[in-house]
Amino acid sequence: KQRDPHQAVFHQAVEEVFTSLTPFLAANPHYAGQGLLERLVEPERVIMFRVPWMDDAGNVQVNRGFRVQMNSAIGPYKGGLRFHPSVNLGVLKFLAFEQVFKNGLTTLPMGGGKGGADFDPKGKSDHEVMRFCQSFMTELFRHIGADTDVPAGDIGVGGREIGYLFGQYKRLSNESASVLTGKGLSYGGSLIRPEATGYGTVYFAEFMLATRNDTLAGKRAVVSGSGNVAQYACEKLLHNGAQVLTVSDSDGFVYFPHGMTEPQLAALKELKNERRARLAVYAEEQGLPYHQGLRPWHVPCDLALPCATQNELDETDAAALLANGCICVAEGANMPSTIAAADAFIKAKILYAPGKASNAGGVATSGLEMSQNALRMPWPAEEVDRHLYNIMTNIHEACLQHGRQNGFTNYVDGANIAGFVKVADAMLAQGIV
Ligand code: NDP
Repeated sequence: KQRDPHQAVFHQAVEEVFTSLTPFLAANPHYAGQGLLERLVEPERVIMFRVPWMDDAGNVQVNRGFRVQMNSAIGPYKGGLRFHPSVNLGVLKFLAFEQVFKNGLTTLPMGGGKGGADFDPKGKSDHEVMRFCQSFMTELFRHIGADTDVPAGDIGVGGREIGYLFGQYKRLSNESASVLTGKGLSYGGSLIRPEATGYGTVYFAEFMLATRNDTLAGKRAVVSGSGNVAQYACEKLLHNGAQVLTVSDSDGFVYFPHGMTEPQLAALKELKNERRARLAVYAEEQGLPYHQGLRPWHVPCDLALPCATQNELDETDAAALLANGCICVAEGANMPSTIAAADAFIKAKILYAPGKASNAGGVATSGLEMSQNALRMPWPAEEVDRHLYNIMTNIHEACLQHGRQNGFTNYVDGANIAGFVKVADAMLAQGIV
């Protein structure tokens, strides 16, 4: 905190992990030495660079680009790129730190990294986004590679942006390596990658419910966000018999009094992914109530799936969810619950999965995209989905193994300890580097 006093979300992420680790380290002192914790919180490398580009009016704009290469103990750095005006070094260090443990949980050989820029794609033309992506990659390309660092998407970086970034990478490097994941199907992408994070989050919710002999059928789910993760979380919830009551964006939330229907989901995807319009427009078009400036957590529900952004669910929201009878929270976003909210869920002994466990299906399927690229052979959707399902099963098992406490599973402790053990063993084996 003294070294980087302004990186509050990074401190929050570290505090959450180290709180889980404290009793574990006391019982397993060989993990407490060799500066392991000090090394875990210090990125192996941070790259920060200027991204100049020209807007449609001919003005030069300058953004700040980053790549945080956090930890490569178990494989090449892997983690998304975020384009959002709130991006700064502290946000990316938090995301890269989380990614290290998450990637450890997937059982695949991927280290942790994260990057992005304080660029806001909202309201920009396709040409502006393309020029920005090309300028961003003109610096980034020298720092990444199929065996070095393999970025993917995150907030503000979807299929369109990955396409522009990949095109520029290829042009500069003269290589068609598996250097980005989330690619389009026609140039090396994997089936099920767009769906993976949302699907995986819902699989995880199902596994948690099964520990209490319960299922998704008939459950009322409140979802936040309306981007990639939220859309496919809604899709899997609908397929598995749950009711979706809300989706949101940064301006407010839409309420589905009778539950979202398949045509309403299709219309949401079209609005967000093709027209890139706002939810207020969607609510109007669908004749649904829109709650401007509010988050969806006060809507009575059985399940909550925060799929938007960090710290979008605080102590007051947690109290409302609990008072309304919510029995399960599965995080699709990274660190959407504040520490106080997470503590409230654990104290109430409801089923609560932290993002690094429940949203790991996205990066896991990115790992599967890398495997398919290396084989030069795409797998059918069923095969990728089967791997995804198995990986989520294994993550859930790892959480049970490390998080069971007197008949209750603390999934936060389980995920943090299981991820730590994998990375720590590799770091100890590789010496002090
Ligand atoms: P998208 O850009 O596709 O969607 C983001 C959604 O979150 C939008 O609805 C957006 O609304 C909303 N949102 C973003 N910032 C804020 C904010 N400050 N306040 C309220 N709402 C906000 O991103 P993704 O769906 O890919 O990512 C969502 C979350 O999931 C992030 O936390 C990300 O790190 C995490 N994640 C994503 C993975 C992936 O595979 N894509 C993998 C694992 C985790 P608006 O349009 O108004 O900005």
